Amino acid sequence: MTEFDGLKALVTGGASGIGRATAELLAARGAQVTVLDLAPESVDKPLLARRADVTDDASVREAVAAAAEEMGGLDILVNNAGIGAQGTVEDNDDETWHRVLDVNVLGMVRTTRAALPHLRASRHAAIVNTCSIAATAGLPQRALYSASKGAVLSLTLAMAADHVREGIRVNCVNPGTVDTPWVGRLLGAAEDPAAERAALEARQPTGRLVTAEEVAAAIAYLASPSAGASTGVALAVDGGMQGL
Ligand code: NAD
Repeated sequence: MTEFDGLKALVTGGASGIGRATAELLAARGAQVTVLDLAPESVDKPLLARRADVTDDASVREAVAAAAEEMGGLDILVNNAGIGAQGTVEDNDDETWHRVLDVNVLGMVRTTRAALPHLRASRHAAIVNTCSIAATAGLPQRALYSASKGAVLSLTLAMAADHVREGIRVNCVNPGTVDTPWVGRLLGAAEDPAAERAALEARQPTGRLVTAEEVAAAIAYLASPSAGASTGVALAVDGGMQGL
């Protein structure tokens, strides 16, 4: 018997990086897991997978309802799908602002709205949002991304307050720089990827990037019945970037 036996989880953006590591960890610890992603075909068993675009309300509603029906309920929602954006306020036009906020903030709202009726029926309901240290760190060249994650942090606290009496806990993780395909793409676009990677590592007090598995472990903790007294918490997984 493991901690997640009998629990059913949904992980958005679970086909890659942090979401994939989280879906795999929850499944390894006994949960039944469905991944919602733009690219569900790359997800392997025992994970279930459905195509959903978090910017499309109908697609989210349909996928969440189908997943809850297939699994026989829903206990855990990991709102993880997200995209990046670089630059200052002068570098991104309105269209880019709308697109990133649509995925990173409204995407979580849509998935949560669709999941709440199912979560209310659970005895161990938990939502974990993937936020970022960008929410509070004041990082350069990340105006839009930071604003989107600042909204995720506020949303997490507001949702925690709104749903605590219904027995639904809402928390978030704040990762630092995590070694995922996303960061791989960023490095790939750099003039000197090796030097850029060394610079990212040097920025971390631990001297290395955070792993997706380390973020997954934090998400799994917050999602687990062991964290039953924690709601409205932002757990840093940032190699000491904010604390030191
Ligand atoms: P990733 O690019 O490896 O994975 C993101 C996943 O989200 C992909 O599978 C992608 O298909 C999916 N996705 C994107 N848009 C979607 C949409 N509209 N609908 C459904 N799925 C969609 O990225 P990652 O590094 O694993 O990032 C995951 C989360 O972690 C994001 O919310 C990101 O902001 C956050 N985060 C990442 C880092 C980092 O350094 N990698 C740091 C802090 C926070």
